[in-house]
Amino acid sequence: MAGRILIADGVTTSRIMLKGTMKAARHAILQADNAAQVLRMARRDRPGLIILGESLVDGGAVQLLGNLKADPLLARIPVVVVAAGPDRAMRLAALRAGADEVVTKPYDDATLQALARNLMRARTAQDELDRRRDTARELGFAEIGKGFACQARLALVAPDMKTAIHWRAGLGRMTRDRVTLMSREEAIGQMPAGTTPDAFVVAASIDTPGDGLPLVSELRSRQATRHAVIIVKVSEEDPAHLTSMALDLGANAVQTGPFDAEELAIRLRPLLHRKLESDALRADFDSHLSLAVTDPLTGVYNRRYAQGYLDRIAREARDTGQSFAVMALDLDRFKSVNDTYGHLVGDEVLVEVARRLRENLREIDLLARTGGEEFIIALPATTSAQAGVAAERLRRMIGDTPVHSPSRGMDIPVTMSIGVAIGDRLVGDVNTLLERADRALYASKAEGRNQVTMVQTAA
Ligand code: GH3
Ligand code: MG
Ligand code: MG
Repeated sequence: MAGRILIADGVTTSRIMLKGTMKAARHAILQADNAAQVLRMARRDRPGLIILGESLVDGGAVQLLGNLKADPLLARIPVVVVAAGPDRAMRLAALRAGADEVVTKPYDDATLQALARNLMRARTAQDELDRRRDTARELGFAEIGKGFACQARLALVAPDMKTAIHWRAGLGRMTRDRVTLMSREEAIGQMPAGTTPDAFVVAASIDTPGDGLPLVSELRSRQATRHAVIIVKVSEEDPAHLTSMALDLGANAVQTGPFDAEELAIRLRPLLHRKLESDALRADFDSHLSLAVTDPLTGVYNRRYAQGYLDRIAREARDTGQSFAVMALDLDRFKSVNDTYGHLVGDEVLVEVARRLRENLREIDLLARTGGEEFIIALPATTSAQAGVAAERLRRMIGDTPVHSPSRGMDIPVTMSIGVAIGDRLVGDVNTLLERADRALYASKAEGRNQVTMVQTAA
């Protein structure tokens, strides 16, 4: 994934080195040597990533990070800080200030390139969630994704039990999250619902060098753990290439060197926050949207959704010239079902009728409940003859077999009247077509009910 990268460093030779590394990965490079310029260029050019040398002409990277993260326009741009040497205090300060990663000179080109890819990919995923949130807002769901828990589940997959206990003791002091120890097998095994970890800290090497890394891709490929935070622990003895491998396999971050609970906790906090927020957003989005477009009694689509779907079918028909059918359906003398057996039984009949209709339609057909005992069906890419056959089949599907009422333990005969209108390339407003189908439906009623009436497009 190539993108635009802003490289800022007070020292010209450092900038040139960084530029060489990133250019080799085919990124477009912007350069700056002072903080004011970084802020200006970041606002104007919106780079996909900023790489900050530790010192700039007019100040330090940590101070600039604060300014970048405080600006809503810039806060989402991932930032990598390049530290002059292995300075733990500086690394932690940069991470706390919002750096997504800190690499230490002399850095490994492959690692820096893998980091850039990784961070820009994560940014794209974040943007996609933002679009969903915006769509949900447009539909009127202002608070979507807000109610997420702040306590997370952390799982540690360490090389051995002694190390695992040492890790847990360290992390336990640094976070309020629930920390559990897991073997590689447990991490990808079946877990009771609601107990899947939100984050994994995985040793890059468990029994042999690099044998922890396949677990990263396993976790990424499984439904339950796809969105989990994964931090890989690379130790001093591990070969250097394990870092870039871990990132390419989907790790969110790598902690190198001796186990550092404080560093892990600082790294986990923003990653977990984003993960829990995204989970809440996804869940809210699915449930709100399905609530917004389906009928709670029968589970079929509602009028709101049908309208949009019909507009789309009509548009396609204008483009492709394929005809389509719209049916209006209404149960006959349904009031008497309610009056005779009660409203509850009426509801049972509606649920069963919707089920029969749904089962006798194609995947691409639309079934919507638009009123009490009224339904609409849209059949894309359908001729008048095919629509007539389908309508007749549906009519018999309802009328030929009485509906069983589980609550009453009895069978209730119902019939349905249907009106069919055909739309084609010349169709204008779909509402006109719906009105035509409705008029055909009332002709079926007037003719004695339990029948199908067809109308052609007015041509
Ligand atoms: P027609 O053959 O002319 O369509 O007669 P009908 O009795 O079906 O027509 P009408 O439109 O007068 O009555 C519809 C009835 O549907 C009224 C109401 O009792 C019933 N109904 C509407 N919505 C629901 C619902 O959600 N549940 C139940 N049980 N009944 C409903
Ligand atoms: Mg009615
Ligand atoms: Mg009716």
